Amino acid sequence: MSHTTFNDAHTESLSQADDMVAISTPVCEKDPVKVNLLGLSRPELEVFFESLGEKKFRAGQVMKWIHQFGVTDFAEMTNLAGKLRDKLVQVACIEAPEVVHKQFSQDGTRKWVFRVGDGAGSLVETVLIPAHDKTGERKTLCISSQVGCALDCSFCSTGKQGFQRDLTPAEIIGQLWVANQSYMEDVPVGERTRTVTNVVMMGMGEPLLNFDAVVSSMRIMLDDFAYGMSKRRVTLSTSGVVPMMDRLGEEIDVALAISLHAPNDELRNELVPINKKYPLAELIPAARRYLARDGGLESARKHVTIEYVMLDGVNDSLDHAKQLIQLLHNLPSKINLIPFNPFPHAPYGRSSNNRIKAFQKLVSDAGFVCTIRTTRGDDIDAACGQLVGQVADRTRRAERWKKSVAARQQGEILRTRG
Ligand code: SF4
Repeated sequence: MSHTTFNDAHTESLSQADDMVAISTPVCEKDPVKVNLLGLSRPELEVFFESLGEKKFRAGQVMKWIHQFGVTDFAEMTNLAGKLRDKLVQVACIEAPEVVHKQFSQDGTRKWVFRVGDGAGSLVETVLIPAHDKTGERKTLCISSQVGCALDCSFCSTGKQGFQRDLTPAEIIGQLWVANQSYMEDVPVGERTRTVTNVVMMGMGEPLLNFDAVVSSMRIMLDDFAYGMSKRRVTLSTSGVVPMMDRLGEEIDVALAISLHAPNDELRNELVPINKKYPLAELIPAARRYLARDGGLESARKHVTIEYVMLDGVNDSLDHAKQLIQLLHNLPSKINLIPFNPFPHAPYGRSSNNRIKAFQKLVSDAGFVCTIRTTRGDDIDAACGQLVGQVADRTRRAERWKKSVAARQQGEILRTRG
């Protein structure tokens, strides 16, 4: 079977499957006639193996090799028959996005910049933040869902970069795959474990505007054959795309966070412009509807996390705290105050520690769990979008430099000829 024929057959069999598996075939960047298996959920992988004339259970076996053991070479998948391994080499690949920059901070924070296309604008970033709590050591990975973002929140570095495109499932789950592997490089294959304990879809982009790819990736995170994460440890953070919050509620049970940042419409219209389309009177009931679908004891829908960035003199007064208490009085919620991390040319400053603590006290006294996010990774540009900005600047400088060298060389060639 030629690669092209295989891909056609595979696309056809995927499109014949039910909605959950009907996605376009993800191809390998280095060899576009092959299928990239990294971003396929188990139902999708089952369809893939059936299209090869194989049994469905191969999907679980290969998922384990990819996501639990970090293996990308089919020859190492020793519980697959030699013939199948040979076939897979011809028609498939396991390809994570390219890491163009990584920084590991002394406090354990790790940050990666991935290239997901050509040019300086095709970069996304991922941050891993370790912490200790009563359940032991946590490693929380903040994953991006889009290249840039169209929503243009006024305090956000990513918003200033504009929207480029949605990430594919392979590019989304690839961020988790790379983060896990960064702890496994020197560990023999059979002894590798899943290191990242929590995921927050809170990096670059609005995840609900890349719905299918994000939900498909979260299914891989929850799958026991892949990362086996608990529903409560996978959180989707939205700025408030109300209709898609309802769809999320219908399709998957994960924890929900809302990037609120303001307790009234007037201020939120300025900070989070999507509020003009879906104001608080629609957003808060949508959050309540999401929780109302509580799936029992193990459900992740016990409360909503409210993200609130503290901007000096903008949204951090005691009056704002009182409005926030009033707004959330009917919504089971935990509030996370985030000290603003200014980026170059940011129009805001960070609230003082005293102001943040006074705000926290008022909200806590009203009966809410209200925490202050500790600033981590200060030595590696912790604010989302900042590192991408720097790497993009360097890439642009490098491109300009290459062009100027090429122009100089061209000039010399012409002079020599002359
Ligand atoms: S805060 Fe989130 S939704 Fe708003 S512009 Fe930034 S990435 Fe987009």
